[in-house]
Amino acid sequence: MIDGHPSRIVLGAVHFPFLNAGESGTLSEVVLSPYVGDWHNGVDIYRAWKATWFTIPPSPAWVRVVHSWQQLQINSSEDDLRTPYRDLPRRAEEAVKNGVSVIQLVGWNKGGQDRGNPTDEIDPRLGSAEDLRNSIATIQKMGVHVVLFQKYTWADITTDAYKSALHAEMATDLYGIPYQHPGYQYQTPSQLNGMNVRRFAPGCTNDQRWLDLSARQFRDSLNFGAAGMLYDEVFHHGGAYYCFSSTHGHHSPTSLWSGDQRLGSLFRDIVRKSPGEDKFLFAGEDPYDLEEQTYSLSYFRISPRHIAAERYASPFRPMMIAVSGFDDRETINRALLDRYIISYEPFRFKGDLNDFELTLDYGKRVDALRTKYKKYLWDAEFRDTLGAIVTRAGKPYADYSVFRTAGGKHAVVLVNDERQPVTLTVKIEGKQGYVEVSPESLGARVSTGHVKVGARSAVVVIQN
Ligand SMILES: [Zn+2]
Repeated sequence: MIDGHPSRIVLGAVHFPFLNAGESGTLSEVVLSPYVGDWHNGVDIYRAWKATWFTIPPSPAWVRVVHSWQQLQINSSEDDLRTPYRDLPRRAEEAVKNGVSVIQLVGWNKGGQDRGNPTDEIDPRLGSAEDLRNSIATIQKMGVHVVLFQKYTWADITTDAYKSALHAEMATDLYGIPYQHPGYQYQTPSQLNGMNVRRFAPGCTNDQRWLDLSARQFRDSLNFGAAGMLYDEVFHHGGAYYCFSSTHGHHSPTSLWSGDQRLGSLFRDIVRKSPGEDKFLFAGEDPYDLEEQTYSLSYFRISPRHIAAERYASPFRPMMIAVSGFDDRETINRALLDRYIISYEPFRFKGDLNDFELTLDYGKRVDALRTKYKKYLWDAEFRDTLGAIVTRAGKPYADYSVFRTAGGKHAVVLVNDERQPVTLTVKIEGKQGYVEVSPESLGARVSTGHVKVGARSAVVVIQN
């Protein structure tokens, strides 16, 4: 109680019928399920329900093994023309040298990242379509997959195309006004001061014209021969959930989320014919669960006190996090802890891999460890903290995770973010007798369960 008022959380279940006066329909089911325990118990209920309807979409085999990416931006919305298409193979050399097997190419499209949306046309200032196609082919021959950053969430409202026609395809509110997104302010003083920001309007994903435009752009982009696309901002519509337009050919109102499903099906249909769903990766920025049926890999950024609930819900789904610090052992340790693929992003994805050698060196060690012990760290089920107890001087220790193999053996990943070593005690459920390994020392050593974890490092304790 605070000053006589109860301190509490109120849960309100609200169900919009999407019906106008005189219409009738059947409401979708909404299920609320109470539980006892911590968040794991809640997610267990969700997991069991998701298993009743979710189907894992086809994807290339390379996305399911231990590997890493680099994100590389070659132009922003501010005419930051950094790398002509022809020079891209040179920028891929570091990836080849360091065993980084995918480059996510950003800002290759006309106008650069977050400008001119939606467009999958080339930017003539960076070269020709043939230059881009040739460079992608060369890089892929070098052993690195190229995945193109693409986006069908917005229209840039500063373009002539928007002003003349595209505005009619935007999601509109109850008053007939297109929703708006403030756009992004990147690195120039004029844009940081809001003078030349490219503001957006969310497209109506249930307007057939918008769907056709997106599908056409995507189909054309396949001609560049990339190994996949990463649909940036696939998870949202900038705060717009419903379209109330009466001129889009859909029931008014409609949910934009249902349109996401239509768009995803169109993309999959196109790729199914050629090049084939096992030869082309659909990745997306943090897709929600329905979208995970289209987009096989989730990319996102994590922050301190990150809770790996999505990983716990989907232990084997390819998920990737941004690693952008110059000595970013802490984020790489999170990748190890939560089974995330590493996306190297020096200088906020403008730089080269040799710009952050400390980060790269540690990331390679962690991936070597995960490859050598993939039975325990990659092909085993992520259990978050369940199945083992870790203490420090008798008190519970939080920074660890547990993996369980199909045979029932456990591995416990211990992470230390401190700048001095810590000594931890590990007790794993079931059979005793452990070995320990670490990114710095791949060979297995017998472990008593009392483990010293070096400063800013990690140790994995494996059940014999
Ligand atoms: Zn609409």
